[in-house]
Amino acid sequence: MSDETKKSPPEEESGQPRTSSELEQPARGGQSIDEVKGVHAPDLLPEPKNAVEKFVAPVAGFGVTMATLFKPVVTEQYPREKAPVEPRFHGRHQLNRHPDGLEKCIGCELCAWACPADAIFVEGANNTPEAQYSPGERYGAVYQINYLRCIFCGLCIEACPTRALTMTNEFELADQTREKLIFTKDDLLAPLREGMLAAPHPMAEGTTDGSYYRGEVTGPARNSVEWVRENRPDEPSLDSAAAAAERSGATK
Ligand code: SF4
Ligand code: SF4
Repeated sequence: MSDETKKSPPEEESGQPRTSSELEQPARGGQSIDEVKGVHAPDLLPEPKNAVEKFVAPVAGFGVTMATLFKPVVTEQYPREKAPVEPRFHGRHQLNRHPDGLEKCIGCELCAWACPADAIFVEGANNTPEAQYSPGERYGAVYQINYLRCIFCGLCIEACPTRALTMTNEFELADQTREKLIFTKDDLLAPLREGMLAAPHPMAEGTTDGSYYRGEVTGPARNSVEWVRENRPDEPSLDSAAAAAERSGATK
């Protein structure tokens, strides 16, 4: 290596080593470091041109503050006032029901397979004449969503073949223990609407699962109401379901 390459650049210019602070401030725009150091910020401000500018100059910096004082307040008063979310906001999941109260979930596990966060656990089981929870052969016997894992991507609801699984707009999911953030089927199942009959109960007489998916079952059927009256006479939803069955005839 030659002597020239060993020398540091500052030493080459002045012959004297420079301080570390000088080395951190390289010359700009062709000015020397001393010239740059001699310029103070106030010197860069334009001089007030007339008497009005001179008068307001000391308080000009408050212009933005004063203008903002008279604009509408945008602070949200959450949680006292909840701001509405967009209609397609991805919130807590819901397991839906058919109009007669049977569950739409058939326990196929497609939602669990689609989930990139492995947040869903499903265990399917066979419907029986004594316990029919959904139209067709199978129903979701165990259903869990772990909200410590869920990233609310919505892939599970896209995968669901029966529209059993959808997402609500509810976003207040914080809680104090990990266990409370694993939602079970009871937490996720949609509440019974007026006139629905809680499962299990038989499918409407003369229908197949296809009738349910085509929307041909619009409420509880008389045979379903009678079955529940015999097997679960204390079922709270029985009276309103019986009234709905009388009104509509139910199967079509
Ligand atoms: S929203 Fe996404 S992360 Fe959450 S359960 Fe569904 S697929 Fe899994
Ligand atoms: S929610 Fe849908 S995809 Fe998941 S198990 Fe039930 S029917 Fe299958």
